[in-house]
Amino acid sequence: MDLIIAKDILKANDQIAGANRARFDGNGVLGVNVMGSPGSGKTTLLERLAVDLDGKLRFAVIEGDLATSNDAERLERAGIQATQINTGGGCHLDANMVAKALERAELVSFDVVFIENVGNLVCPSSYQLGERRRVVLLSTPEGDDKVAKYPPMFTGIDALVITKADLHEYVEFDAGRVEKDARVLSPEVKVFNVCAKNGSGMTDFVSWLAAEHRRLKAMLARGAEAP
Ligand code: MG
Ligand code: ZN
Repeated sequence: MDLIIAKDILKANDQIAGANRARFDGNGVLGVNVMGSPGSGKTTLLERLAVDLDGKLRFAVIEGDLATSNDAERLERAGIQATQINTGGGCHLDANMVAKALERAELVSFDVVFIENVGNLVCPSSYQLGERRRVVLLSTPEGDDKVAKYPPMFTGIDALVITKADLHEYVEFDAGRVEKDARVLSPEVKVFNVCAKNGSGMTDFVSWLAAEHRRLKAMLARGAEAP
C-alpha cells in the first residue's frame, strides 16, 4: 500500500478511536484491547474472568473475528455480555468497527470492556481502538522467541499475559527471556504467567485490572486527562 494512503487511513482511524475513548471515559469504563495469536487463549482468559472478576468488576466483551460468532457464544454461555464484530475476512479490528459495536452496548452498566481483537501478532498493533490499556497474550506453545520476532505487537503495551503457563517445562519456555525482551519494547509492562484452566496466576492479573480501573476513575474524578 502507498505509504501516504496508509498514513491517512491510520490518522482517520485514530480520530474515531479518540471518540471511542471519550465514550468509554464518559461512562467510567476502562477499555482494554486484548491482542494475541489465534489460539493464544484470549477467549479462554475472558471466560475465566467471569469467575475471577465476579463481585469485583462488571465487564463486557466486544468480540472480533473474521467470521462466525463462536467465541461470542462461548462467552455468553459463561454469562458474559458479548457483542460480536465480524470483520468479513479483515485481519484486525479498526476504530470504526468498535464505534459501531459501542452503539449497541450499554456502557454505563460496566466497569471494563474488553475488546478481543482478531487473532494476529502483526497488524492489530497499528490500530488504536479507543482503549486505555493494551494487553497482549503469548501462549507458552508459541515459543519464547516471539517477542523478539514480532516487536511492534509488544511495543507500548501495558500488560503481557503468558498463558498456558502450566506447559513451561514441557516446551522449555524461558519466561525470564520473554519478560526481558518485552521490557526492552515496553519498559513499564506488567508480566503475568497464568493458566486459565486451573486458575493459577489469575489473582495477580485481576488485581492489576482492578487497580487500573480505580486509577482511571480517580483521574476522571479529578477531571484530568487519563494516561
Ligand atoms: Mg477468540
Ligand atoms: Zn490486519
